[in-house]
Amino acid sequence: MIDSHCHLTLISKNKSEIIKIVSRAKESGIKNIIDIGVHPSDIEPRIELLGNIENVYLTAGFYPDYAYSYTTDELSDFKQKIITLNKDKKNIYMLGEIGLDYYHNSDDTHKQIEFFETLIDMANELALPISIHCRDAFSDMLMVLAKNKVEHGGIMHCFSGGLEDAKKTLDLGFLISFSGVITYPKNQELRDVAKYVPNDSFCIETDAPYLSPQKVRGKKNEPSFLPYTANVVAKQKSMSEQVVFEHCYKNICKLLNI
Ligand SMILES: [Zn+2]
Repeated sequence: MIDSHCHLTLISKNKSEIIKIVSRAKESGIKNIIDIGVHPSDIEPRIELLGNIENVYLTAGFYPDYAYSYTTDELSDFKQKIITLNKDKKNIYMLGEIGLDYYHNSDDTHKQIEFFETLIDMANELALPISIHCRDAFSDMLMVLAKNKVEHGGIMHCFSGGLEDAKKTLDLGFLISFSGVITYPKNQELRDVAKYVPNDSFCIETDAPYLSPQKVRGKKNEPSFLPYTANVVAKQKSMSEQVVFEHCYKNICKLLNI
């Protein structure tokens, strides 16, 4: 019932097209969508396109790739923007995606860690949970999260680690989010993680327009495809898709206070 990580405005920049995507999602039972930001400059256009669509919850993100180019002015404007947007009513529900990505760039991992730590502090000050992007950086990620207390919890989006990484992520109190990647035949290790993860500690996501589930691979991903992922997680956990959705929804509502 909730797609916990999606980029609606990367699927389309056309408002009527986005409304169609959201209504197709509703027809497949996905009534709620968390729309994820990747850069301060995407906040306004996303509010413009998505702000009045019911049950779409926005986050504000600063992708790890920007660790090499951001300015301190950009950081303070970003923070101020969120403070202003959340002043009278909550418009931004989470800080993210933020994190570490050594797949795209591992030239200076210290720079990425420093940037990520700054954003964790910001989330704590803003009293927001975080959406974490982690690619090829699990050991540093766990080290950073152990060292910097994340006060309002968060989601390890598109979890891609092994069982030991999952255990450590859960010990730190984060939700583990499964994307379409879990449906790919070669990813048995990820399916083992799904079997292991407690019902109160997981959610599912599309990361649309990326990572289409196996059955629709090659098509542009969208929230209406989330049941394909739910189906695989359900099999691992010996429960119905409906129950998978119920757990996911409950876990997200608790994290985001919705
Ligand atoms: Zn994403």
